[in-house]
Amino acid sequence: MKQVLLTGDRPSGKLHLGHYVGSLLSRVEMQRQYESYIMVTDVQALTDNFEKPDIVQKNIYEVALDYLAVGIDPNIATIYIQSQIPEVTELTIYFMNLVSLSRLERNPTVKAELAQKGMTESIPVGFLCYPINQAADITIFSAEVIPVGEDQQPMIEQTNEIVRRFNRIYNVDLLKECRAHIGVNGRLPGIDGKSKASKSLGNAIFLSDDTATIKSKVREMFTDPNHLKVSDKGRVEGNVVFTYLDAFHKDKGEVSALKEHYQRGGLGDVPIKELLFQDLETLLAPIREKRANFSTEFVRSVLKEGTLRARAKAQETMRKIRAAMHLDHFV
Ligand code: ATP
Ligand code: MG
Repeated sequence: MKQVLLTGDRPSGKLHLGHYVGSLLSRVEMQRQYESYIMVTDVQALTDNFEKPDIVQKNIYEVALDYLAVGIDPNIATIYIQSQIPEVTELTIYFMNLVSLSRLERNPTVKAELAQKGMTESIPVGFLCYPINQAADITIFSAEVIPVGEDQQPMIEQTNEIVRRFNRIYNVDLLKECRAHIGVNGRLPGIDGKSKASKSLGNAIFLSDDTATIKSKVREMFTDPNHLKVSDKGRVEGNVVFTYLDAFHKDKGEVSALKEHYQRGGLGDVPIKELLFQDLETLLAPIREKRANFSTEFVRSVLKEGTLRARAKAQETMRKIRAAMHLDHFV
C-alpha cells in the first residue's frame, strides 16, 4: 500500500513561482510514488475572501489549470475541491474541541498573516481556525506526506498535536501523524524583497505570466539599493535577483562567479536581470503553452471526478471517526 500524499492551494489567485519551488515540483516528482490528493482549498480561501465568492470561484479553475500545466497528472493524482467534501467541515468542528484559543493565537504563520492582512483588531474566528480545518483536510485522507512551503510548518505541528490528542482521548490508533516535505527553496521572496512571494501581496511572478510581464517584473526586482553605479560593490544577501538565480539557474558555478563579481564591483543589475529573465522564460514558456490547451470542460471534469473519488475516501475515514467518538447512532 502506498503512503498518502496530500496538499493544496488557496484559490485566492493564480499560482506563482513560490508555489512552484515550494511545493508543485515535489508533487509532480512524487505523484507516482504516493497515493496523491491535491485540493483547491476554497473553504480556506473564503476565510479571508468571504465577500468575494466570485473571485474564489474563478480561481478554482485557474489553480486547477496551473496544476495540469506543471504536470500534475489527473490520471495519477486526485485533484478535488475542498468545499465539496462536507465531511471535512464536520471533522473540523470536532477538532475545534481539541485546540485552545491561545494555541491558535500563538501560531506564527497565522500571526504574520493577520498582521499582513490588517486583521489585528477584529480577528475573524474562521480565519484563526484555518489550521484546524487543515488538520481535518490532512487526517481525513490519512495523509502522511505534505509537500508545502516553509510557512506551512506550524500547520503540520498543529495537525500532529490534534492527532495525538484525538487518538489518546478516544483511545484509538486511527489518525496518522504527518510530515512536511519542504522544497529546496521552501520560501521564495517576493519581487519587492518581502520575505515571501504571495498571491495576496501582489509581489509574485505567476506561472501564467506572459513574456512581457515576466520581463517587466524582473526589471522591477529589488536588488541592492546602494548599488548605484556598475563599479560599486554590491550586496547579494537580500538581493532578489540572486535568490531567484539560486533557485532557477542550473549552472550553480556560474551563479557563484556572478555573485563574487557583483560583490567585488563591476557587474551591473542589467546583465544579471537579463540572465534571470532568460531562465524564467525558458521555464515558464512551456507551462504557459500547456495551460492554453486545456478546455474549460476538461478542467471541470477533472475536478468533478477527483472530488467524487476524494469524497468516497473521506467518507470511509469519517465513519471510523464517528464510531470512535460514539456518534454512529443509526448505523
Ligand atoms: P495567499 O496570499 O492567498 O495566502 P499564497 O501565495 O501564500 O496565497 P497559498 O495558497 O497560501 O499561497 O500556499 C499554497 C502552498 O504554496 C503552500 O504550501 C505554501 O507554503 C506554498 N507557497 C506559497 N508561497 C510560497 C513561497 N513564496 N515560497 C515557497 N512556497 C510557497
Ligand atoms: Mg498563503
